[in-house]
Order: sequence, then C-alpha cells, then structure tokens
Amino acid sequence: MPEKILIVEDETALRETLAYTLEREGFAVRAVADGLKALDAAAAQNPDLILLDLMLPGLDGFEVCRRLRDRMNIPILMLTARESEIDRVVGLEMGADDYIIKPFHMRELVARIKAQLRRVRLIREEKVAPPPEEATPEEPILSGDLSINLARSEVLRSGVPLPLKPKEYELLVYFARHRGQALSREQILQRVWGWEYTGDSRTVDVHVRWLREKIEPDPARPLRLVTVRGAGYRFEG
Ligand code: CA
Repeated sequence: MPEKILIVEDETALRETLAYTLEREGFAVRAVADGLKALDAAAAQNPDLILLDLMLPGLDGFEVCRRLRDRMNIPILMLTARESEIDRVVGLEMGADDYIIKPFHMRELVARIKAQLRRVRLIREEKVAPPPEEATPEEPILSGDLSINLARSEVLRSGVPLPLKPKEYELLVYFARHRGQALSREQILQRVWGWEYTGDSRTVDVHVRWLREKIEPDPARPLRLVTVRGAGYRFEG
C-alpha cells in the first residue's frame, strides 16, 4: 500500500507541483490549502507524513503543527520561507521533524521525505524486534531514577511521569540504548531526526539542553548526559 502524504500549502502552483511530484514518486497524496482543512484531512486520511507550509491563511503552520502533535506522532516536515533560528527552534519545539527552506529542489524534498519515512519504519521495526542484547519493549529501560517504558512511550522519573516532547523522548531512548557510548551530533541527527544531509547540529544541542532540564539534578552541571568535547554527547545513565 502506498504511503500517504498530506500536503498543506496555500500557493496553488506549488501545491500542485508538490502533489504531482509526490504522486509520481508513488505516494498517495492529498493536498489542502489552509490550516483548518489540514486538521480535518489529517483526521480523515491518517497520513504517514505531513508536508506543512508555515505561512498559511487562518491557522498558521506552527499552530497546525502544535494541534496535530497533540493527536498523532507522525513526521511533520515544514516548508518555510523564513530562515531565522528563532523560527527553526520554535518549529522544532512545536514538534516539526524537519525543515526545508523555500525555494528548494524537489529532489532534496523527496530525499528528506523518504529519510523521515525510513526513520519511522526503523523505529517500528525496533519496537517489534529489538536486538537481543537490548530490553524487550515490555521491559522498561531503567537508569538511575528513570524508567523508560517503550511499550507505552512513557518515562517515569522516581515514579512520576516525565512530560517529554516526542523528540526529547526519542533522544532519551536513543541515549539510553547506547549508554556509555559517545554519540556524535551527526549520528544523533540521522537516527533521531532522520536527517541524512549535514544537518544543523545545533538542533541536537537545543534538545539536549531541554532534556537536561528534565533529567539532571543540576542542568548547568550535567552528570547524566555529558558533553564529550570534540565528539558529541554520552549518556552515563
Ligand atoms: Ca504559504
């Protein structure tokens, strides 16, 4: 069955080009022109990925992203004409998985879409069949006062649910599965974000900072999620 992509873009010409290109790539495509229709279509179509323009009439892309995130955990790729870091960070905080700045090459967009879908498939497969040396989905990963319940995608800290955003959760699981190993920003970007191009590694730094605020006794002096100079980060447990 073809994977389903929902396109949300108010510029008619771009919307039609996107739909045409992605259909030709073998995806089942639905395209809408505003934020409210996007929410309806997402509920009706249950897409595998959403391509979401930032500047939309009515509800803007940030708001659509925030509302979608409350209901579904699927890749959201934002299309944006803006380039300032604040937009990028706010977008990631709202739960977007990746960004592409207009104007872009269709070939790059298709590559990023495929990378996101591949990442999701990988996570799904790992949930079904974890490598033998790792915890099965039923057994929580225990680390200090943290208990990561993979089956329920929930983390408890000293028995209390820890409110993590989807990317913070995925990042923590990735670290916990590679406890004691130095992980480079590139490795992390590829595995957690599905970014295969030389992505902006500051995205990792921002999320590590958010995660530290939730798991470190003193986020300014991290002991659990430490920086490895010149290498990346290491989870000590
Ligand atoms: Ca627009």
